Amino acid sequence: MLIETFIRKQLRLKAHTVTHVEETEESMVVHIDRLGRRLLRCGVCQQRCREVHSTRPEREWRDLAMRKLPLKLRYCPRRVDCPRCGVRVEDVPWAEPWARVTSALSNAVAVLARELSWQGTARQYGLNWKSVATIVKRAVEYGLRHRARPPVHIIGIDEVSRRKGQVYLTVVYDLERRVLLWVGDDRTEEAVKPFFTKEMGARRCHTLRVVCMDMWAPYAKLVREHATKAQILFDRFHIVKHLNEAVEEVRRSEMRRLSLKEKAVFKRSRWLLLKNPWNLTSNQKERLSTLVRWNSPIVRAYYLKEAFQLFWDYKQPQRAGHHLEKWMRSAMSSRLEPFKKFVRMLRSHLDGILSWTKQRVSNGAVEGMNNKIKSISHRSFGFRSAENFIAAIYHCCARLPLPVEL
Ligand SMILES: [Zn+2]
Repeated sequence: MLIETFIRKQLRLKAHTVTHVEETEESMVVHIDRLGRRLLRCGVCQQRCREVHSTRPEREWRDLAMRKLPLKLRYCPRRVDCPRCGVRVEDVPWAEPWARVTSALSNAVAVLARELSWQGTARQYGLNWKSVATIVKRAVEYGLRHRARPPVHIIGIDEVSRRKGQVYLTVVYDLERRVLLWVGDDRTEEAVKPFFTKEMGARRCHTLRVVCMDMWAPYAKLVREHATKAQILFDRFHIVKHLNEAVEEVRRSEMRRLSLKEKAVFKRSRWLLLKNPWNLTSNQKERLSTLVRWNSPIVRAYYLKEAFQLFWDYKQPQRAGHHLEKWMRSAMSSRLEPFKKFVRMLRSHLDGILSWTKQRVSNGAVEGMNNKIKSISHRSFGFRSAENFIAAIYHCCARLPLPVEL
């Protein structure tokens, strides 16, 4: 088979044909022309048009490489006289109207850009970074327009930081399907509102049952306004994070106070606090008891933390509430300021915390996805514009459909 025939078949040309293929040192150039008087389609409405108005100057499209040789298509697009749209440039079957690469190449680029950085993808296909950015953004636009929108029941709202915690984005996940639903440029009420009003709309907000979020986030008000049937759940993942922060704060301020020798002893035995007492050897038990005898605030902090964690295992709301109440009282009398702060935070959000026993939903899955977002940001040396970063997040986490090749 001639190479011309092969390429014509590969491109599935009907109204066009390959006239000849020119081989040079660094590329293969495929020359395309109109086939006889076959009807061409309007670039706007796809309608077949009888009249050709004029011929445009030659254009070039990059295609998937043949082995190592870059492949380029060259063709002079016609302007057709469309009965509906008037004089328009024809629709070429191998590329989108705006594109300078073929659909086959842009699809391949989009697939690889889910795994690699945009720089890496560009290098792989011999394109520049900007072309990859354009392709990904177009793919995301297409994907958002064409993605399935099944009813959503359980969502998690969280924030991710861009540029070392200076700029924040809000991300919303469907926790049942474990997929990203939406990204907002900032974490303010104003910025997140469009998720409820535009992306979801009143009707889909109605099916929301549980909304997981961090206690400190400004999102609760929005949920109460727009998703009246949803229960707010301050999720396990974030509560434990705040708890760990309290422990860490106590530890840090104590370490500043301890003498060097005490510090050394403590550093060596800290892990003893995290082990189950019945798994300790007698030597370890003795070291632990020394530690406890100091009655150091750090020890109290560790035990408070461990005692709190029992909360997650209760199945009856009443017992869970009872446990929490007891725990908060002992934490308040612990003379540890970070824990008092933590208790005050719990107190003002008690409803949303106790709903855990009924819902057992956690934003834990969110952590994995947030890590993925972090790695997207790292591998691209941080996106300079929020727009590009948001496109990359959608592209990698939202499982959007890609344009189908015809
Ligand atoms: Zn038309």
